[in-house]
Amino acid sequence: MKITDIITKELKNLHKSNTFKLETPLQGPQGGVVRVQDSDVVMLASNNYLGLSDHPVVKEAAIEGIRKYGYGVASVRFICGTQDIHLELEKKISDFVGCEDTILFSSCFAANEGFFPSLTNEKLGFDSYKDVLYSDRLNHASIIDGQRLCKSDTTVKRIYNHADTDHLEQLLEEDKNKDYRFKIIATDGVFSMEGDLAPLPKLVELAREFNAMLFVDDSHALGVCGETGHGTPEEMGVFGKIDVLTGTLGKAIGGAAGGYISANKDLIEYLRQKSRPYTFSNSLPPSIVFGAMAAFDLLTKDRSIVDTLHKNTAYFRKEIKNLGFTIIEGTHPIVAIILGEASIATEMSKELLHKGVYIKGLWFPVVPRGEARLRAQISAALSRNDLDRALEAFEQTGKKIGVI
Ligand SMILES: *Cc1c(COP(=O)(O)O)cnc(C)c1O
Repeated sequence: MKITDIITKELKNLHKSNTFKLETPLQGPQGGVVRVQDSDVVMLASNNYLGLSDHPVVKEAAIEGIRKYGYGVASVRFICGTQDIHLELEKKISDFVGCEDTILFSSCFAANEGFFPSLTNEKLGFDSYKDVLYSDRLNHASIIDGQRLCKSDTTVKRIYNHADTDHLEQLLEEDKNKDYRFKIIATDGVFSMEGDLAPLPKLVELAREFNAMLFVDDSHALGVCGETGHGTPEEMGVFGKIDVLTGTLGKAIGGAAGGYISANKDLIEYLRQKSRPYTFSNSLPPSIVFGAMAAFDLLTKDRSIVDTLHKNTAYFRKEIKNLGFTIIEGTHPIVAIILGEASIATEMSKELLHKGVYIKGLWFPVVPRGEARLRAQISAALSRNDLDRALEAFEQTGKKIGVI
């Protein structure tokens, strides 16, 4: 059988099983309201939490970056791809997340792929050794893939049940007398399917007790969680106590691209030597670097942006419940609206688009069977009027389909 025939058959299967990912083109910039199929719809599906994707200050900074530093650097960092602005952005991120130093990547996916194997696949003076990774069952694909790159003969992988610190403690306890070289606990700061936060204080405690390194991917939390948007460590009272923080500049911080790892100075220095997606991949373009710096400056100077996000989130969470919908409780702008059957979620999202609301459904196998849902993502870019328009559409659609 030809490769292309097999691929064609697989595509048919994806359509049949309702897991084919459809792409809807936006006819303009990302924002609170976007242009889709020649009409204006309220956007409830983006990671543009702070509304900086199309912010005039961020856009102007990106253009300024091109004017002053060019379009691209055409080099990896250690050959001739480091500009002074890369170091400036790294310093800014370190200060913002409360770590000594930071290394930039082209994305957080690359950062996570670059982290784990650069530690576990190196002998570092040990003739024989084994490392162990403890990973939350619902961790992001990039953490899973980063760990897949670790050699299986020297890396033991242990999955603990989602946010279940008792289970994690049990695994750590079982491994206590095994002579592991490195122990790393890895978790998302915020889990994107439910919008729930990792139990960081307990994870910090367990990491200390069992002499493990704690790795937190704060992609959905940077600029979002905590009173001033410094992430899950701020929200949970453990700021400055996380060993390794990774995150993206492709969500709240302007939404263009870029990722980072922040940690202790020597660890970052080491990653600059050994992390393959860093040493063998082009450095971030000046437009992104300038845009991201402007985004950090904006949210540091103007507290009202994060405040608006938090107020919008609290308002939407309260009102959607008042309408009779079942949501997963929490504080994050990711609001999972549970509907049950996949067919209801698809019908709701189609109907909502007709009524001017852009939202995506999630169903099995992405979430457990029978827990199909719509995932709303609230943004500071949404006005009260946008939110009310969305809520009204939810009310009408929910009644029509019979879920409220
Ligand atoms: C979005 C996300 C990523 C990927 O970030 P990119 O910069 O887009 O590659 C990685 N980890 C988590 C937890 C995410 O939510």
